Amino acid sequence: MRYLSTRGHADRKRFCEILLEGLAPDGGLYLPEHYPQIDAAALQRLRDVYGHGRPGGYAALAFEILSLYIDDIPAADLRALCDRTYTAAVFGTAAIVPLKQLDDGFYLEALSNGPTLAFKDMAMQLLGNLFEYELGRRGEELNILGATSGDTGSAAEHAMKGKRGVRVFMLSPQGRMSPFQQAQMFSLMDPNIHNIAVEGVFDDCQDIVKAVSNDLAFKRAHKIGTVNSINWARLLAQVVYYFAGYFQATKSDTEKVSFTVPSGNFGNVCAGHVARQMGLPIHKLVVATNENDVLDEFFRTGVYRVRGSADTHETSSPSMDISKASNFERFVFDLVGRDAARCKALFHDALARDGRFDLGADAAFVGAAATYGFLSGKSTHADRLATIRDVFQRFGVVIDTHTADGVKVAREHTAAGRPMVVLETALPIKFAETIVEALGREPERPAAYAGIEALPKRLKAMPADAAVVKAYIAEHCA
Ligand SMILES: *Cc1c(COP(=O)(O)O)cnc(C)c1O
Repeated sequence: MRYLSTRGHADRKRFCEILLEGLAPDGGLYLPEHYPQIDAAALQRLRDVYGHGRPGGYAALAFEILSLYIDDIPAADLRALCDRTYTAAVFGTAAIVPLKQLDDGFYLEALSNGPTLAFKDMAMQLLGNLFEYELGRRGEELNILGATSGDTGSAAEHAMKGKRGVRVFMLSPQGRMSPFQQAQMFSLMDPNIHNIAVEGVFDDCQDIVKAVSNDLAFKRAHKIGTVNSINWARLLAQVVYYFAGYFQATKSDTEKVSFTVPSGNFGNVCAGHVARQMGLPIHKLVVATNENDVLDEFFRTGVYRVRGSADTHETSSPSMDISKASNFERFVFDLVGRDAARCKALFHDALARDGRFDLGADAAFVGAAATYGFLSGKSTHADRLATIRDVFQRFGVVIDTHTADGVKVAREHTAAGRPMVVLETALPIKFAETIVEALGREPERPAAYAGIEALPKRLKAMPADAAVVKAYIAEHCA
């Protein structure tokens, strides 16, 4: 399997070459040259491999799917990496991603029982093991630099802590994350984890990461890398749980299932798109957004419009607060028939020039719902509160704010006789304030997280100044 850039760069690379890279050299995103096809016999075999959540079944399924895309890691090693990653000890159950039924034919797929209680663990835990493996093989080191407003940073740190050859330098806006999120990151005492609390907002953190990454000499000298959501390995890891969700929601491979995905950067639902392109019998992929409705607008109208900061809202489902969707280019590449010149004209030229493009009159867009199964919807703070209340009253289940956006939108797109699976992307304890607003009570806290806010913290406060951050990295990365 070789990987290409959505903007047409001539290089074709193998999996381990793109594993430690971010964007392609031309600014595009990496995609496989083709999607391996799962025929009926292969699907039946994968169902048996998963074995309806038997111990080790998820890891075995992950190995089978990853093997279709990775041919430069020996099979025995890849299997060991999957076995080490997807354990009941790390993810709470043997099924790893158990389905919880709410209504008849309406399910939640639990993706947030990993170490940081959000679905990003599903991919990040694998990435930590892949990075350690590949860096060890090359005898290299990597210093991961990132900015976070919450979920990504903690998932990355919990995946990379204690890993050989990897250090993490994670910038976060001082005092802006929830106490729970701060505790998840700042209580890590591993020497390879560096928390940097920047005196500023999230955008200041991102600007510093960009400034450091644009200093190519510094970047090379200090082996700076990233783990952001455009990383293909992260997306690939997420493909697996669409298969696991499908197998749990059906008895036979003749049935079709729809998925609703609380979306921000389009990484999660893009993995669903890949699964569907491989031949997994997915009926609809429903994109649920919050007030930051860039994606809902696109799927309704064909207009993709990047929002300015004044137009980007801080909401009670903060991990979906985006001004643009960084993985969206992958889907558009497929939508325009894998025409890289066209994709480049849209994402490089039109977005730089106009901040938007319009495919509303394009035949590909007009047929997109039918060809690719995409639908969308939007949810507001009031919708979240109402949905959290309703799900609690009717089913006795407390859902988090992002999952509530998903449930709200999924209900607008359910069809009789067609199972609907909503991806549960976080546990409610991470967003306790809104749960209290909706239900008048604190969400349940898993026992392992009792009192984490009181643990000792290890972090370094710094002004919003790239030079200061660089000096810190230089001092701590040898
Ligand atoms: C990151 C995140 C999302 C959005 O996922 P994308 O892959 O960016 O679309 C949704 N919910 C939660 C809880 C998240 O952490």
